[in-house]
Amino acid sequence: MTPSGAEVLRQIKSRIEEVDPSAVREQLGNGAVVLDVREAEEWSTGHIPGAKHVPKSFLESRIEGAAPDRDQHVILYCQSGNRSAWAARTLIDDLGYTNVESMTGGITLWKDRGYDVEQPRTLTAEQRDRYSRHLLLPEVGIEGQQKLLDAKVLLLGAGGLGSPTALYLAAAGVGTLGIVDDDTVDLSNLQRQVIHNSDRIGVPKVDSAEETIKALNPDVNVQKYRVRLGPENIMDILPDYDIVVDGLDNFPTRYLLNDASVRLQIPVVSAAILGFEGQLSVFKPYDGPCYRCLFPSPPPAELAPSCGANGVLGVLPGTMGLLQATEVIKLILGEGDPAIGRLLMYDALAATLSEVKIRRDPECPICSREPDEIGDDEMGVFPDYEAFCAGAH
Ligand SMILES: [Zn+2]
Repeated sequence: MTPSGAEVLRQIKSRIEEVDPSAVREQLGNGAVVLDVREAEEWSTGHIPGAKHVPKSFLESRIEGAAPDRDQHVILYCQSGNRSAWAARTLIDDLGYTNVESMTGGITLWKDRGYDVEQPRTLTAEQRDRYSRHLLLPEVGIEGQQKLLDAKVLLLGAGGLGSPTALYLAAAGVGTLGIVDDDTVDLSNLQRQVIHNSDRIGVPKVDSAEETIKALNPDVNVQKYRVRLGPENIMDILPDYDIVVDGLDNFPTRYLLNDASVRLQIPVVSAAILGFEGQLSVFKPYDGPCYRCLFPSPPPAELAPSCGANGVLGVLPGTMGLLQATEVIKLILGEGDPAIGRLLMYDALAATLSEVKIRRDPECPICSREPDEIGDDEMGVFPDYEAFCAGAH
């Protein structure tokens, strides 16, 4: 006669070690692997702090990832203590584990005792759909998407570079985008500043950018700063952010940004464009050179775009802005090789991308010193700007 399910379970429980939730609680953090064998929907309602999740139906294929050593102490639990008993038998009899226990009463008894429960962060159904192509990439996945949603990125300028960068960072689900821009939308901007449109001429760029971003992705929180970045506000704005995207069009502010970002140890993804050529580098303080290591003194004034209106191919800031957005996302995810210590140079007419290595300057006036040694009066030191631009003509 075939024994009933209840009888089989009774036999299994008599052959495995069972352990009370109070003993499991004492074991937390003592090297035992606590394994939740419930289904994903049950796990998402809360689990024992520090527990790993391997659903019973995936036990054979995933146990090695959670507990690679067959002699290590493994404690299994489920909702009420039955599925974990079955799973314990599988680990012992079929997979050769030697030190396995099943928690009596499951998470139900654990919760009844008033012990701590950890609530796993999950994406909403809408987010799973919106970011589904990210979730399919092992380099992103749910964990990476949550990093993106938690990230705070500051965009300096909602112009040629800032427009495409902001659009794609918003689409990717970067949770907080700060935008610094004191300008309004002008008809001559629309040839390249694609976050704005013809209906918004005369509208502050920060408002226009916010409207486009909100329509694209309501997950994104937009912080607007309708100011010019300067010594009087930079130390108020920057500390709230993880990464700065530099689309600045003038050298004095670039030096100021460099000095402040080194002091605050915030990486800057920087790009510049002129005519048919673009440059990009990632300045990660103390991991690589800073902007002053690359340009100890300002470049020749005739190369300073802000000294007058310069021509630019409309798609070029798009290309460079999306290279910036890519570097930002790599930094947030911690994937790939960011362009730290490298200056990438894109020539649109030649269709070439080349790079030069740049090194930290041991004599650099800023990054050769500790962050707290950089004083307020030293930040953004730069030759007189009017005089600098006058030299261009
Ligand atoms: Zn430096």
